Amino acid sequence: MQGVTKRFPGAKGADPVVAVDGVDLEIRDGEFFSLLGPSGCGKTTTLRMIAGFEYPTAGSVQIFGEEVGLEPPNRRPVNTVFQSYALFPHMTVEENVGFGLQMKKVDRDEAARRVADVIDLVQLQGRESRKPKQLSGGQQQRVALARALVNHPKVLLLDEPLGALDLKLRQAMQVELKQLQERVGITFVYVTHDQEEALTMSDRIAVMDGGKLLQVGGPGAIYDRPRTRFVADFIGDTNLLRATAEDPGSARLPDGTAIRLEHHAAPGSDLMVAIRPEHVGLRATDADRDLTLDAIDGEVALVTFLGNATLYEVVGDRGDPPTRVRIRQGNAPGVQHFGVGDRVRVRWAPSSATVLED
Ligand code: ADP
Ligand code: MG
Repeated sequence: MQGVTKRFPGAKGADPVVAVDGVDLEIRDGEFFSLLGPSGCGKTTTLRMIAGFEYPTAGSVQIFGEEVGLEPPNRRPVNTVFQSYALFPHMTVEENVGFGLQMKKVDRDEAARRVADVIDLVQLQGRESRKPKQLSGGQQQRVALARALVNHPKVLLLDEPLGALDLKLRQAMQVELKQLQERVGITFVYVTHDQEEALTMSDRIAVMDGGKLLQVGGPGAIYDRPRTRFVADFIGDTNLLRATAEDPGSARLPDGTAIRLEHHAAPGSDLMVAIRPEHVGLRATDADRDLTLDAIDGEVALVTFLGNATLYEVVGDRGDPPTRVRIRQGNAPGVQHFGVGDRVRVRWAPSSATVLED
């Protein structure tokens, strides 16, 4: 997509809605690519422009180098799977999957072979004669997948396909979908507002907000090196600390604490630094008010048990307002635990502090 914008006419008298705003995006052949962002950020509209259900107001959409921006859906090598499976209730699994091929007048033997192949692929063997009502939610979603894959698309578009499933099943299906994508080897473009889902399945992720692409990268890069405050906040949990740049590679928090950064900014400039809760360590301290490098001394203000970890909130001694940091510690044997009111020192490695662009 190059410079793709989509404007919808506003409701009576209202301004037009800019659903997608100047998006430049290149998705690689064979990758599992996710569009991630909050509700209303333009994910579905972007996907629908790839599918051909919407035409861009401006810009170009190409698939394998061919301009398709104004082509109808059936002239594009893509298929879409929606959250509402949209299966025909009166047809069996086999009939649902084969319907498109029948419409296209594909030879009967070939159609039967292709239907059997994709039913195997999504592991619905033995359920060919069931009606959708006789299947679980996860199985219905697999029928919807098979129905899309039977057309041998070069790109499969999926719009929150697991949204209707409960958490456990959704997690199981995430693994299945990823494995399926690896087996068939085609490009998947996956829309979700669920950051965990995107991190689990994707080769690369595009984070969107307000119709714009904010950052594109692998799950690790997006998580460890968010570029903006929005991305840092939207993906996972994060500590945001204000700081003022000093000498190259160092800065000072408002409370006077000196910190080191793998980042060079003009001395005196205001910075926002993001640090993941699991990248800060916690230990007991009784020493007070020595200005230790990359460390905040303070008091435990809140303890939340998370099962596989414990989340601590620590309020720094110095500064106004006090620095508040969140720390996520594993529950492995030997990890020291703290209670509300305990005196602690919070430390981190300079490499885990990211300076945000905004
Ligand atoms: P998402 O899928 O990220 O939730 P959408 O792409 O569905 O977001 O919508 C992006 C914005 O465009 C929203 O503000 C939505 O209300 C608006 N929008 C989407 N489709 C239409 C339409 N057909 N007419 C008018 N506004 C629309
Ligand atoms: Mg949507």
